[in-house]
Amino acid sequence: MSRYIGSVCKLCRREGMKLFLKGSRCYSDKCGIERRPYPPGQHGQRRSKISDFGVQLREKQKLKRIYGIQEKPMRNIFDKAIRMKGVTGENILCLLERRLDNIVYRIGFAVSRKEARQLVKHYHFLINGKKANVPSMVLRTGDVVELATKSRESDKLKNALDANSIREVPAWLDVEKAAFKGTVKALPKREDISAQIEERLIVELYSK
Ligand code: SF4
Repeated sequence: MSRYIGSVCKLCRREGMKLFLKGSRCYSDKCGIERRPYPPGQHGQRRSKISDFGVQLREKQKLKRIYGIQEKPMRNIFDKAIRMKGVTGENILCLLERRLDNIVYRIGFAVSRKEARQLVKHYHFLINGKKANVPSMVLRTGDVVELATKSRESDKLKNALDANSIREVPAWLDVEKAAFKGTVKALPKREDISAQIEERLIVELYSK
């Protein structure tokens, strides 16, 4: 399945909330949803009734759009979450948060998860001292993500941690700016994940 290449602000407008897909613009008054707080398209401003299935579907789409993942990986995450101990919905969020591209974004090396994914694919990071280029890799407690030595020569990457300090680093990550690295201190809990998602609806949808 091909990746969406249209306007990402339309995705936020469709979901009726900020998904923070565009870096610093999301924090400015140029934010698309603040300018046009209604769904995109000719009939965007019409009120329409939404079924229970529609509500569940929108919740799933919202989550996929926040983390920038496609349907098949999302389904795989659900299958994995169901086999784990604990609440399936929370397991889904925990697995998504621990993806390498998300952690690179959360540490502050990238302005968005999309940029983080690209940086990972271009071998800009080491995991526990070894090269890694798989954005979907799920990290564990104690894993260390650091900027590769050669990438520290890039001004953009070198200054990224300061430039992105507008975002708070979650409590389950430990960031050492001077060493250009971050460590997974603990597994993220539901209260550590700020995404306004009703994960229960996604579990209901996939369990049908
Ligand atoms: Fe969404 Fe606003 Fe960011 Fe556009 S600028 S991606 S509408 S949060």
